[in-house]
Amino acid sequence: MKPYLKEHPWSIIEDSFDKNYHQISESIFSIGNGHMGQRANFEETYSGESLQGSYMAGVYYPDKTRVGWWKNGYPEYFAKVLNATNWIGLSFKIDGEELDLNKADVKSFYRELNMKEGYLTRKFTAELSAGKVVEVEATRFVSIVNKEIGAIEYKLTPVNFSATVQVCSYLDGDIKNEDANYDEKFWDPVHVSAEDERTSVTVKTKKLDFYYCAMQETHIYQGDERQTGSVVNNETEKYSDVTFELELNENTPMTVYKYAANVTNRDHDISELEKAAALSLDQAVQKGFTQLKTEQSQQWEKKWLDSDIVIEGDVSAQQGIRFNIFQLNQTYTGEDERLNIGPKGFTGEKYGGSTYWDTEAYCLPFYLATSEQRIPRNLLIYRYNHLEKAKENAAKLGFSKGALYPMVTMNGEESHNEWEITFEEIHRNGAIAYAIYNYVNYTGDKSYLGEYGIEVLTEISRFWEDRVHYVEHKGYVMIGVTGPNEYENNVHNNWYTNRIAAWTLEYTLNVLDYLKDSDPDLYKKWVAKLAIKEEETSKWADIIHRMYYPYDEQRGVFLQQDLFLDKELMPVAELDDRHLPINQNWSWDRILRSCFIKQADVLQGLYFLNNEFDMDTKKRNFDFYEPMTVHESSLSPCVHAILACELGYKEKAYEMYLRTARLDLDNYNNDTEDGCHITSMAGTWMSVVEGFGGMKIKNDQLILNPFIPGNWTSYSFKIVFRHARLRVQIDQKHIDVTNESDVAVDAVIHGEQFRIEGKSSVSLDH
Ligand code: BGC
Repeated sequence: MKPYLKEHPWSIIEDSFDKNYHQISESIFSIGNGHMGQRANFEETYSGESLQGSYMAGVYYPDKTRVGWWKNGYPEYFAKVLNATNWIGLSFKIDGEELDLNKADVKSFYRELNMKEGYLTRKFTAELSAGKVVEVEATRFVSIVNKEIGAIEYKLTPVNFSATVQVCSYLDGDIKNEDANYDEKFWDPVHVSAEDERTSVTVKTKKLDFYYCAMQETHIYQGDERQTGSVVNNETEKYSDVTFELELNENTPMTVYKYAANVTNRDHDISELEKAAALSLDQAVQKGFTQLKTEQSQQWEKKWLDSDIVIEGDVSAQQGIRFNIFQLNQTYTGEDERLNIGPKGFTGEKYGGSTYWDTEAYCLPFYLATSEQRIPRNLLIYRYNHLEKAKENAAKLGFSKGALYPMVTMNGEESHNEWEITFEEIHRNGAIAYAIYNYVNYTGDKSYLGEYGIEVLTEISRFWEDRVHYVEHKGYVMIGVTGPNEYENNVHNNWYTNRIAAWTLEYTLNVLDYLKDSDPDLYKKWVAKLAIKEEETSKWADIIHRMYYPYDEQRGVFLQQDLFLDKELMPVAELDDRHLPINQNWSWDRILRSCFIKQADVLQGLYFLNNEFDMDTKKRNFDFYEPMTVHESSLSPCVHAILACELGYKEKAYEMYLRTARLDLDNYNNDTEDGCHITSMAGTWMSVVEGFGGMKIKNDQLILNPFIPGNWTSYSFKIVFRHARLRVQIDQKHIDVTNESDVAVDAVIHGEQFRIEGKSSVSLDH
């Protein structure tokens, strides 16, 4: 696909209309506010190919799993975030003819996602039959100030004619998920109302009883005059509208303001739902579009103050990184500990909007460094709240103790759709333990360990203990697993899984020691509550000591799994381009037999446990595995970019960075129409801050080892570290670290120790 978006530091811009790119743009130009999200569907009728998508966070459905041959242990259902009532709908009949860009002759088209201020705007000129030309300018946003509100301003000008127009502003709750396993509809009607300019639709899910009420109010102006025209209301089971009939005068614009409140019983009592919607809507209408939009810009300005990355000298890179940060901030805001981050956020239906290990392994660092501490803490609490379910999950699979967190979940239960591939990916348990370490290591908030962390760590450790077994000639082994590289299934002794399991045991023992020393009473309480016995902790110590790790002496590399060297090894570079991506061109069988690696596996371990390995070890493993890696998971390039930076492979690092930064904008994987790769966007952030910036935390100290890609003039990023807010600016000659807060911080920059007092900065040369 040729790149069709214009480069701009703060906006995503499309300046012509191509039906072939329509669904890609619908994903890219999505808007969201953590509470809800909306694909960039047109407000007016569009009869061409489109995925109409409105999603309410946390409102999901347990769709029956689809498998050919049922086996014990399969998840009963595949949870998916529901496509919900279309609240943006407007339709225009001009002298009886529907305005529809699939049918009209589109003379000019411009669409802009203004990331600085958080709104989407579209302008077009279209010719209807008989040469009638209309000009449209439409702007909309979902408010980050009042999360339940969405607002639209839609200005239509008849350029060369006068006519009668019927403007229909509607709410349509008769919506189906594109990814429904059995093509079923998941919403039942509850109540609709329509009175003059205000209408509502309340629907409920067929299972789980999620209730959702959308309520709208629509005002139309010609000049400054509010028009009432003749108003007709329609209602059916899951649909309501208001239709205005007006006379349009040549070259005189008509402006439609549509406000919609979107409320669910996740936040309100079912009996109060309509009342709550009416209240939110009243407030929005009272403020009016302009004030709501001003508040939106002010709030986004604050978000950017904490999380912006500025790149000078490369607009394309600048646009890419801001797009990633914008989408992350649109997807998860951290106020609601029941929510998490779906791999596609609110931009599409793939992956069902569920939670994957992506959150712990890739997203957490972004929220740790750019938000208040309670936000990443809520991501941990989410898993804490699912601990009982994780224990049930382990029991269901035949384990005698411990917790196995699900690979895919909405409410703590396992709910993936691809049992054969993801079921054995028990490594996710390790990432959940690692996230606790990462949070404590970054924030210094050790209180989390005694409040929640130790319980999760103990139960995960118990699972590992049960999952390994001892064999004489090797030690403790783990057979029949799938590592992060999903292009090998049911392998034995995946190095990464074995390592992260033993690491979890080590960390859990360390945390127990820490609690014993720092708060003996609390320690005793936990030991009693969790019934931790001496034999148990000694067994963990034994597993740590005698865990088996496949290793190739000759090459000095950790082996991805026992039989990796029996594969025919060859670099991806030797594959003819027509084979790539292999997941679209090869049989699954051929993929599994090949040496090609989907995403970082051994290298994921070297990234997580970075401080444990020397440079030579990292280099040998990187040099061995990266050439065989096809990076067919969007989560792959970031880990490679970070390690490449550390190893001084600057070109490779930049190449990997480019693959993540503009993945969706340039539709690298040819799948952006399914939605954007939200969780890998956090990986892009990591590539800049942990990769180019070389940021890590070691012995409670902030470490920075920055370099700057040759074609950038400078770049800067902001991080909050232990209550200090720092701005790190790097140009081709200097590194400046400014402490914008009042809290002093210690940092090691390129190996040199600094104490940076509040409101001061340090500067050094590369
Ligand atoms: C990756 C997994 C990831 C999932 C959701 C898959 O393609 O291999 O590691 O959890 O996508 O992003």
